[in-house]
Amino acid sequence: MNAKQKTKRTFKEWQAAADALEINGQAFIEGRYQPAQSGKTFYCLSPVDGRLLGKVAACDKADADLAVASARAAFNSGIWSQLAPSNRKQVMMRFAYLLNANADELALLETLDMGKPISDSLRVDIPGAARALRWSGEAVDKIYDELAPVPHDQIGMITREPVGVVAAIVPWNFPLMMACWKLGPALAAGNSVVLKPSEKSPLSAIRIAQLAIDAGIPPGVLNVVPGYGHEIGAALALHMDVDTLAFTGSTNTAKQLMIYAGQSNMKRVWLEAGGKSPNIVFADAPDLQKAAKSAAAAIAFNQGEVCTAGSRLLVESSIKDEFVALVVDALKTWKPGHPLDPATRVGAIVDQTQLNRVIEYIESGKQEGAKLCCGGNRIESENGGYYIEPTLFDGVNNAMKIAQEEIFGPVLSVIGFTDMEEAVAIANDSAYGLAAAVWTSDLSRAHRMAKALRTGMVWINQYDGGDMTAPFGGYKQSGNGRDKSLHAFEKYTEVKATWIAL
Ligand code: NAD
Repeated sequence: MNAKQKTKRTFKEWQAAADALEINGQAFIEGRYQPAQSGKTFYCLSPVDGRLLGKVAACDKADADLAVASARAAFNSGIWSQLAPSNRKQVMMRFAYLLNANADELALLETLDMGKPISDSLRVDIPGAARALRWSGEAVDKIYDELAPVPHDQIGMITREPVGVVAAIVPWNFPLMMACWKLGPALAAGNSVVLKPSEKSPLSAIRIAQLAIDAGIPPGVLNVVPGYGHEIGAALALHMDVDTLAFTGSTNTAKQLMIYAGQSNMKRVWLEAGGKSPNIVFADAPDLQKAAKSAAAAIAFNQGEVCTAGSRLLVESSIKDEFVALVVDALKTWKPGHPLDPATRVGAIVDQTQLNRVIEYIESGKQEGAKLCCGGNRIESENGGYYIEPTLFDGVNNAMKIAQEEIFGPVLSVIGFTDMEEAVAIANDSAYGLAAAVWTSDLSRAHRMAKALRTGMVWINQYDGGDMTAPFGGYKQSGNGRDKSLHAFEKYTEVKATWIAL
């Protein structure tokens, strides 16, 4: 079955599949599923309709110790870390294949667990996760080491080695894809990994642990420990035998992880954190209609729960009213619906806490004097799920809370500007520096803007471009290091200089 055929399931068929789905909530350590050492579990509820999906192991320090010991033993044995890169490549490709072969089940887990539309899970999340594994696997036997330009009687080798044990702590907005952006290069480079999914969306990570074994990844090389971040996440971050911590999540947690690393073994800490990305539209944008549709998608896709969401829309004042009307019109096509309906484009917010947070920001926007142009309400609450209308505020000042803080929901702030200098000043007036977009027909201005923007990614006349070939990550409090592309291997390898006297 290919991906296109899969999306042909009807709403009713997906609902039946959801009712029949078997859910495993156990940890995966040393190549087998097992309960938390304490026997404790937590309830995993679906934001789609509030249904109980199952009980999940609430791992803590004891499980972290076990998983890290298993990862270390596997690493030291060389069974994976010393395998020829071309052999690891074969296994990674099989792992990727198995994700795609089980796409329906994984997509269903993703949608039920975090509320995103099933069409997105099938079209974006599962193929994106598989591609990260495949791309990294394919790359690893094409990366060469270096020789230093040393005197005639010496050889200076510069080699890259796997770091050892990697703890990967990931968020809930693209649960499997974020996990695989870490797993791809970390495993391909020969490391052992302990993966900690978010307590809000642990199910797909738990499921793929078995697929890794089926693909040929040896027991102990990939362990999955679900549980609350402050317990199991902190235990991993403070662990004396974890070499590298690879994180995606909020800036607050990211800062805490740097402290934990300092308090323990100075493990390397790589952080992909929050964003408040400016989407900047000049009056000479090549196609205002296209730019407006793109601005709507940039805030509504994945319920706005996207680190690179285009949450600040900066519009040149001369076209602002006209452009805002176009965006409001485009947002009408992003109405929340049941996530299992293949026609749905906006699903449920991940949980009650996040829903409340988004509603608080909407209230804050109103109180600070921004003009609510559309949305602003919770809807369909009668089915027990968490749905919120895509919301647009005009007349926002960049100092307002809704312009400064990451909302992580479908709330767009429109800010006017008069010239390029002002656009750059507003865009860069943020604690974050993840991404930015510029819409203009002026080639020189596009380049000057791209240079002036303090962000890790810049898109010209599009929003959210990129694939595995280009690095992903941010400046400032959006984090350090990069996921995706060959640059991602820098996180998971140490550089060694070996000097040989001839
Ligand atoms: P979060 O920081 O609350 O949680 C992320 C992970 O950290 C979870 O697994 C959580 O259990 C764990 N955690 C929480 N507290 C911890 C602690 N004290 N010690 C160790 N681990 C802890 O973030 P979230 O709400 O899951 O995800 C949303 C955030 O992720 C947003 O800020 C978003 O911008 C960011 N994000 C960034 C990127 C990127 O690539 N830059 C991509 C996706 C999401």
